[in-house]
Amino acid sequence: MPSPNTDIATMIKSQAASLGFDACGFAAASPVDDEAVARYDHWIEQGHNGCMLWAARHRDLRRDPSMLLEGAQTVISLALNYYPSRFQPADVMQVAYYAYGRDYHEVMRERLTALARFIEHTTGCTTRACVDSAPIRERYWAQRAGIGFIGRNNCLIIPGKGSYFFLGEILTTALLAPDEPCRSSCGDCGKCIEACPASALRRDSAADASRCLSCLLIENHSDTLPEWVASVVGDRVVGCDECQRCCPHNGHAPTTTIADFSPTETVMTLTRDRILSMTAGEFKRTFAHSAISRLRYKTLLRNTTLND
Ligand code: SF4
Ligand code: SF4
Repeated sequence: MPSPNTDIATMIKSQAASLGFDACGFAAASPVDDEAVARYDHWIEQGHNGCMLWAARHRDLRRDPSMLLEGAQTVISLALNYYPSRFQPADVMQVAYYAYGRDYHEVMRERLTALARFIEHTTGCTTRACVDSAPIRERYWAQRAGIGFIGRNNCLIIPGKGSYFFLGEILTTALLAPDEPCRSSCGDCGKCIEACPASALRRDSAADASRCLSCLLIENHSDTLPEWVASVVGDRVVGCDECQRCCPHNGHAPTTTIADFSPTETVMTLTRDRILSMTAGEFKRTFAHSAISRLRYKTLLRNTTLND
């Protein structure tokens, strides 16, 4: 069995930093531990994945990264900060910070691909880059790779930096020395549970996505939403940041240095009238490179009129 190469590991981390990643960690690509599998299965069995039907698919692949890349030895977990330096005014329809700027799938994919090429060139090993493109337990791997811990708000929290991070992974057949898993936790805090407008969080379990506004507004494309949503949704039309805003770990969240994640002019001026006067074609053009495109035109209109 070859020994992990620490020089190459250092070079990969240094390259990741120069590509703008805020955190990079390595975990051995062994099967997901039994406890985490049982927790996930229980979450699905309770129906807490809500309209995220994809979460119940490919559970065998989610358990074992070597099924996503033959011969995988290491999962490299990476994080990109998206916390904005300026915010929407209060008189426009509210969009979660993650969707302020350019579609993170594009931004993350470009950087992951550059890093994956570097790894292949340096090690001669194969890689597979994943950004919501493969059934992989990304927060689990981020914790295993020492980047952060999974908070009660179900976000990955990086100690000292907070939770406004996109996650991506590179699977590789390169054997890299694993980092120590992150052992931090929320402790006694329960601020996000109190702050959640939809009562979707529990102290002892994962979020109930069937109640989470973020999930309902973005992933549920039916013509109507449950009646109770109108009484708590406020002026949100894309996602919800409430359980991150209240988190003490985000009290000193650093702002992103990635210009692509700055709010677009459209987001800064996204009034109700602007949305309701938009045609389907305009929606497609306007949000072609925005995560908002994943909502679909009809869903954005529905979200805008929930209080009518
Ligand atoms: S995103 Fe909003 S609705 Fe969902 S768990 Fe967090 S606070 Fe609750
Ligand atoms: S608000 Fe408190 S309980 Fe919730 S994720 Fe942050 S630290 Fe954990």
